[in-house]
Amino acid sequence: MENLIIIGSGPAALTAAIYSSRANLNPLVIEGLESGGQLMTTTEVENYPGFRNGIMGPELIDEMRVQAERFGARFVMGNVTAVDFKQQPFIVKTDSDTFSSHSVIIATGASPRKLGIESEKRLWGHGVSSCATCDGAFFRGKEVCIVGGGDSALEEALFLTRFSPKVTVIHRRDELRASKIMRQRALEHDKIAFQWNSVIQEILGNDKNRVCGVRLKNVVTGELTDYPCEGVFIAIGHIPNTKLFEGQIDMDNGYIKIQHPYTKTNIEGVFAAGDLADHYYRQAITASAMGCKAAIDAERYLAEKNI
Ligand code: NAP
Repeated sequence: MENLIIIGSGPAALTAAIYSSRANLNPLVIEGLESGGQLMTTTEVENYPGFRNGIMGPELIDEMRVQAERFGARFVMGNVTAVDFKQQPFIVKTDSDTFSSHSVIIATGASPRKLGIESEKRLWGHGVSSCATCDGAFFRGKEVCIVGGGDSALEEALFLTRFSPKVTVIHRRDELRASKIMRQRALEHDKIAFQWNSVIQEILGNDKNRVCGVRLKNVVTGELTDYPCEGVFIAIGHIPNTKLFEGQIDMDNGYIKIQHPYTKTNIEGVFAAGDLADHYYRQAITASAMGCKAAIDAERYLAEKNI
């Protein structure tokens, strides 16, 4: 029987693990198979406090994990396949084990959103990707496109200029959503071009099943244009990883509902932290802050129950 199970392995889960292990709760962290979350596919993190010269995303995750282990947090690898929050103790099942626990912190984060068109699926891994950090180096000397107008799209566009002679940002509006500093950097960059008011109708493949361009639709004029490129990066936001908890816990549009300012869900003893409960801020530091709150909420819950 566990005191506390933490599901996830990004900054929310790991901060919860640091706080709860330091409070002697001896938490069990169930890391998904894509351990570390979105920071694992991020390069330089410049805005996480405490690192004046920035830190690489995977390194930041590693630091947090080791810090949690130092205080006794235990880690098991495995995808959670089912949970039962309708009975106490709660049940958490993975591919290979079944655990029971007095409390649970859910911190499974969010995953990249896709365009959902057939050609995206067909050419995925053949020039279509959602991770410039992972795949950018394959496009050395090649022209690429990136879809989206937020911070992620511009961050990836800037990263891709290290390899690519021309990076085109395709955005469905004529105004970027990204922060002012990122907008400025991208708009002033001589290797970055923009296709405004445009959506990808089809990703074009050549006879070797490799990307050779995109068919763009101008949403204002309806005009279709074939635009050559050898890579397409999709950076259009994220979807909360909460499918597993459907029917078990209250959600709003796929995001787990919490009782602000706490991390309590509608199930007493189950807490939620990070991007799956926050569609607004979605920063590593805000996920960490929620993980801290969830650990404190869980600790107080267990103390009240004399567990
Ligand atoms: P985001 O801010 O939600 O931006 C998503 C972008 O994709 C928007 O421009 C949106 O267009 C577009 N989009 C959404 N669905 C689309 C579709 N089906 N087809 C075409 N375009 C679509 O997501 P994000 O860029 O991943 O950023 C998420 C959060 O992380 C934000 O809070 C951001 O500030 C933060 N972040 C920060 C940094 C940093 O500080 N360095 C880096 C990365 C992310 P519309 O604009 O028209 O809605």
